[in-house]
Amino acid sequence: MSFKKMLTLLSVFLTWCAIGWISSTFILERSGLVILIPKFYKFRFVTILIGVVLLVLSATFFVISRFLKEEKRVSKYIRCKVCGRKVPFDMVICPYCFSDIKERKNELSDED
Ligand SMILES: [Zn+2]
Repeated sequence: MSFKKMLTLLSVFLTWCAIGWISSTFILERSGLVILIPKFYKFRFVTILIGVVLLVLSATFFVISRFLKEEKRVSKYIRCKVCGRKVPFDMVICPYCFSDIKERKNELSDED
């Protein structure tokens, strides 16, 4: 699983948690269990605050995941121009036919 997908899933999870935190006291109020909790409005303030913080976190992760590029799997290998075999992209010389893979542009441009 890519990092981008993980961030998106994390933001969905955090949104789900935030909805739970925010709605919890309203559910308690509906069910009539308010009497059991002393300082109910302070409790509600805290739960809503936690929910809002989670929502902000979730939104941040979502925005970050949108800006991340999708990882390319093809780029880990390149094809040798001489023998046509797959070679890891960081190789300089083909391990099969020993021909140069990387064009040495730096050495050629030394004349300037
Ligand atoms: Zn080769």
